[in-house]
Amino acid sequence: MRTETQNISIEKVTESRINEVDFNNLAFGSVFTDHMYECDFKDGKWQTPVIKPYGPIMMAPSAKVFHYGQAVFEGMKAYKADDDTIWMFRPEENQKRINISSGRLQMPAFPKELFFEGLETLLKLDRDWIQKGEDNSMYIRPFVIATEAGVSASPSNEYKFMFLLSPAQAYFKAGSGVKVLFADKFSRSANGGVGYAKAAGNYAGQFYPTHLAQEAGYQQVVWTDADKHESLEEAGVMNVFFRVGDTLITAPTSDRILDGITRKSIIQVAENEGIKVEVRTVSVYEIEDAAKNGTLLEMFGAGTAAVVSSISGFGFKGNDYELPKLDDKDCYAIRLRKRITDIQTNKAEDIFGWRYQVKE
Ligand SMILES: *Cc1c(COP(=O)(O)O)cnc(C)c1O
Repeated sequence: MRTETQNISIEKVTESRINEVDFNNLAFGSVFTDHMYECDFKDGKWQTPVIKPYGPIMMAPSAKVFHYGQAVFEGMKAYKADDDTIWMFRPEENQKRINISSGRLQMPAFPKELFFEGLETLLKLDRDWIQKGEDNSMYIRPFVIATEAGVSASPSNEYKFMFLLSPAQAYFKAGSGVKVLFADKFSRSANGGVGYAKAAGNYAGQFYPTHLAQEAGYQQVVWTDADKHESLEEAGVMNVFFRVGDTLITAPTSDRILDGITRKSIIQVAENEGIKVEVRTVSVYEIEDAAKNGTLLEMFGAGTAAVVSSISGFGFKGNDYELPKLDDKDCYAIRLRKRITDIQTNKAEDIFGWRYQVKE
């Protein structure tokens, strides 16, 4: 069945797959909803978008994305409140950021109106897949790839913008945490590089060092500056926070660090709670000293997928340090995570103006 909205051509599935899905047992990012959104860039402009059944896409094997990695993405979430209304969290930030990422890779910006029209139409079409309840959300994966055929090393003249929707469950467990390794050899990003962009290649480059860290008994790498490996910048694919005494510390954003929406939300919520926040260079030696003298109380990653992800200890140049186990009520990570998820899921007043309702 094919219908036309004003601006999107919609081809619906003949039969939904929703009954095959166990919503209580979802591996993150592995199940996708019935439909997906596609908009092609050709002849210098974005063409009429299409929503169609989720499935494989056809591309020339010489498409530039496969050879030169012109690919960027975003990660965002939608929620369903108890009254069946659908909400997103600061989606304008993701819309702006995907264009910042695209710009760095010499790819065209995707217009804001198309972004919101496409995403909201898709969310409404697959609304039954958005589960209510505290720990449930719809993970949204916008991405752009270079589709022009030909292996000359130059920017593509053709692109595809897509939205995929993947139902997700929270995978935060209070009191648990991962052990991380502070990088002292490999780097994720460098001055003047692409570290601030959600460019696909940034993630490929992390897999090998992360694999080595895992073989050495750590679960993630905390990335340091590429020059001296002396300042702590990001935790895997999340921003990173340190609590020394009662102060929360995180690195300033730069061209090496991704400007995370969760990061800036945590800074605002923490300040609103009266927690002292310092945004400044974080030295590995300072954190090592704080761990030795017992003032390093918490470390956590911050990102859309998990919101907050606790770190239980770290290794640096052959030494290992464990963080103390705090009661839930004393733990900044748990407190800040709850403040943010309560706003996301419409349980708390939206004092910062962060919620965005998907209108019928
Ligand atoms: C996506 C991402 C983050 C977190 O950003 P959010 O907007 O909070 O999801 C942090 N660091 C890197 C490298 C990322 O790719």
